[in-house]
This record gives sequence, structure tokens and C-alpha cells, in this order.
Amino acid sequence: MVICKTPEEIDIMKRSGRILAELLNELSKLIRPGITTKDIDKYAEEFITSKGASPSFKGLYGFPASVCVSINEEVVHGIPGSRRLVEGDIVSIDVGAEVEGFHCDSAMTFPVGTVSKRAMELMRVTEDSLYRGIEQARVGMRIADISRAIQSHVESKGFSIVKALSGHGVGRKLHEEPAIPNFVIRGEPGPVLAEGMTLAIEPMVNAGSPEVKTLADNWTVVTCDSSLSAHFEHTIAVTRDGPVILTAL
Ligand code: MG
Ligand code: MG
Repeated sequence: MVICKTPEEIDIMKRSGRILAELLNELSKLIRPGITTKDIDKYAEEFITSKGASPSFKGLYGFPASVCVSINEEVVHGIPGSRRLVEGDIVSIDVGAEVEGFHCDSAMTFPVGTVSKRAMELMRVTEDSLYRGIEQARVGMRIADISRAIQSHVESKGFSIVKALSGHGVGRKLHEEPAIPNFVIRGEPGPVLAEGMTLAIEPMVNAGSPEVKTLADNWTVVTCDSSLSAHFEHTIAVTRDGPVILTAL
């Protein structure tokens, strides 16, 4: 069942979304060669709690940290640790925060120092595809309209969509219905979008083949061909006036 939120509930979600937007903006300045992924996690957890919010990921399904940090061929769900970022890496940070019982979810991929042209293009196309998907999040449209906008943009640029993972509804739980695939599934248009739906839209895009696998740590998802992967995510609300991004500054 898709749970629609009242305007008052969406206002609460705006508060957790704002914290995530501010955090990711701070991380864009912090991320540089030499920093460890654990440093990023520590900064994020302190930032979130200092704002009176809670990190949504910590302990969720047993995840041990407040952010997922995924480097280069890692797609999502990387566990922070002692690895140091090096010049030329790209690093995806995925993070959630909860305020008064409501979660928001957001992710961005950052360049570490100077990165290849190909990496820049992958990040740009992935972020653009997110905004193209968000643009479809209007009352009366369907989930598949979001999926189609993301997929067609990514594939037109020669990159590939990760199909094993999807976006999702978000609210009192971090993961709610509906699933929001980043590609069209024939015969499955998904629910019609209605006022008050709050959705985490999150294209995961590979530079090479779309195939992914999970590493032996049971968390980290990587590309099977070791090609680069990027991930951008916003939580949005479907309103009568169109999509409102809750996780933007
Ligand atoms: Mg996320
Ligand atoms: Mg998500």
C-alpha cells in the first residue's frame, strides 16, 4: 500500500531533507584525497545528530554505519572503513535522516580531486537523469513515466541502468511502497501518482555493463565488469503544484 502524507507530514519531512541537503553540501567540501570513508561517516553522523535528527541507516537491516560510501566500481551500500580516497576516485554517499518519525533519503556522487572526463560525464548524466525522472512526478502520471524518463536519458548517452536495485516510497519507514525502478518493465506501469506521495528516486548508472553483484561482506554492490558507477537520489513530494524536492537546499 502506498501511504500518502498530509501537508503537515511533508513539512516534517522537509526538515530531515534539509539536513541531508546541508550535509551533502558540506561533504562536497570535505571530500578530497587522503580522507578515509570512516571519516566521512563520522562527520555525517555528528552533523545529523547535531541537528536533532537521527541517521536512518544506522542499524537498518543491520547496517553498521550512518552513510553508505561506495567508491568507483562500487554501486551502493559500501561500508565505511579505513580505505582512503585517492585522486581520481569517484565516491557515492548515500544517507538518510529521521526527524519526528519521518525519514528522507538522498545520495550524490562526488569527484575526488581531478577525475577522468568519462567519470565526469557519468556523474553528469546520472544526475540529469534524476531530474528528468523528478519532472515526471506529477499527479496522474505513473511510476513508469519516472522510470522511462531516467532510462531513456541514460541509455541515449551510452551508459547502463542498474536493474537489480530501485527507488522507493519513503516516510515513516525509510523503504515504503511503491518500488521505483529506473527502467520500464513491460506490463508493469506501477501506481498512478497521487497528491501526498513521497518518493525516493535514485538512478544507479554504470559506465559499462548493467550487471552487478554483492561482495562477500554481504553489503557492497559492485559492477561485474569493474566499470565505474554513479548514484544520485532525492526525496520528493508529489503535490498539486508539481514535484517538490525535499532534499535540496
Ligand atoms: Mg539513499
Ligand atoms: Mg533510497
